[in-house]
Amino acid sequence: MIVFDLCCAAGAHRFEAWFASSDSFADQQARGLIACPVCGDSEVAKAIMAPRVGAKSNQQISVAAKPVDAPAAGEPSPELVRKVIAEIAAKQAEMLPQSRWVGRDFASAARAMHEGRAKEDLIHGQASPAEAEALRDDGIAAMPLLVPIVPPDAVN
Ligand SMILES: [Zn+2]
Repeated sequence: MIVFDLCCAAGAHRFEAWFASSDSFADQQARGLIACPVCGDSEVAKAIMAPRVGAKSNQQISVAAKPVDAPAAGEPSPELVRKVIAEIAAKQAEMLPQSRWVGRDFASAARAMHEGRAKEDLIHGQASPAEAEALRDDGIAAMPLLVPIVPPDAVN
């Protein structure tokens, strides 16, 4: 499972979308199946990632992708947000059976795959907020699960 930062052509809205693989993204993009959740534009492309600045640098450039806090025209309606979240949750529920539970090793496992040290695989597990943030800083796809799961090691 891969998350891409996408950007629509019409309004340059940035949003995240999940795909089973890069191919699946390319296929859905080619067929116009991916639409901007803000304006509905189906002409979307991968958002350009901000150049990475050394983590220790205090002049780190933050990506200007944060949704504005103040309500603005064109803000997605609560219904739309609920719909998008429900779709993501449904997708995740669909993928979970094929996903491998890695528990507390999630951050290191995701990093190993990202760096090519491990075979790409669908995994899910636990990560602290700091770990999740570090993964994101390194451009490693991870997303909070929106479906409730019981960790296998918590059973019994
Ligand atoms: Zn848009």
